[in-house]
Amino acid sequence: MTEIDENVQAVLERIGRAALRAGRDPSGVTLVAVSKTFPVDMILAVHAQGVRHFGENRVEEAAQKIPEASGRIGSSSPIIWHMVGHLQSRKVRAAVPLFDWVESVDSIALARRLDTQVAALSKTLPVLLEVNVSGETSKYGIPAEPRAGVYTAVREIAGRAHLDLQGLMTVAPIVSDPEQARRHFRALRQLRDELLIHFPERALPHLSMGMTDDFEVAIDEGATIVRIGRAIFGERPCAV
Ligand SMILES: *Cc1c(COP(=O)(O)O)cnc(C)c1O
Repeated sequence: MTEIDENVQAVLERIGRAALRAGRDPSGVTLVAVSKTFPVDMILAVHAQGVRHFGENRVEEAAQKIPEASGRIGSSSPIIWHMVGHLQSRKVRAAVPLFDWVESVDSIALARRLDTQVAALSKTLPVLLEVNVSGETSKYGIPAEPRAGVYTAVREIAGRAHLDLQGLMTVAPIVSDPEQARRHFRALRQLRDELLIHFPERALPHLSMGMTDDFEVAIDEGATIVRIGRAIFGERPCAV
C-alpha cells in the first residue's frame, strides 16, 4: 500500500470507530475527500481505495480537474463531486455542469442563480445551506442568529423547483483542541432540529461538518458528511 492508500484506510477506520462510539451506523457517515490543490493522479489513487465523493472549492481548478478525472475513471464508478467553497455569482454558470452537490449555498441570491442555471440543464441539484454558527466574521454562511434569517433562507431554497435542500453545512473555527469545536457542531445539529419543527414537511437529513482536525467530534455530534483533505492527501502547499 502506498502512503495515500494507508491514509484513506486510516481515515475510513477512524470514521467507523467514531460512529460506533457514538452509537451510530458507520454507513450513515459519508467521506468527502477534499482534493483542492491536489492533482488528478492523487484523486484517482483515493478513488481506487473506494472513495466516491470528492470536494473542490474553486471553480477554475474544478473545471480543469473534474473532466480529466471523469475521463480517466470512466462510467463504472463515477465520482460524486461536491462544491464546498464560496461560489461567486459570476461562476455559477460554469459550476453547475461540474458539480453534483453544492454544499456551500450561503445566500438567497446564490440559491436563485443556481436554480436558474440548474433548470436550464433540466436536472435537480442537491444542496446544503451553509450556516455560520460560530459568528466569526471571516466565515461565509447565513448567520445562525437571528433564526428568522435562517428560516427565510430555508423557505427560499426549499421553494426552488430545481434545488433539493438536503440539510446544513458549517465550517467550524480552527482550534487547537477538537473538543473546542464541539459546541459549534452541536449548534448546527440543534439548528437542524429546530428547522424540522419549523418546516415539518422537510427532511433535512444531512449535516456536513468536521474536517481533518475535528471530524471525530463532528461525528459524535451527528455529522452525516465529513469533508477531509489533509488527513488523506497530506499538507497543502499553502493555506487555502
Ligand atoms: C479545505 C476544506 C476542507 C478540508 O480541510 P482539511 O483540514 O484539509 O481536512 C473542508 N471543508 C472546506 C469547506 C474546505 O475548504
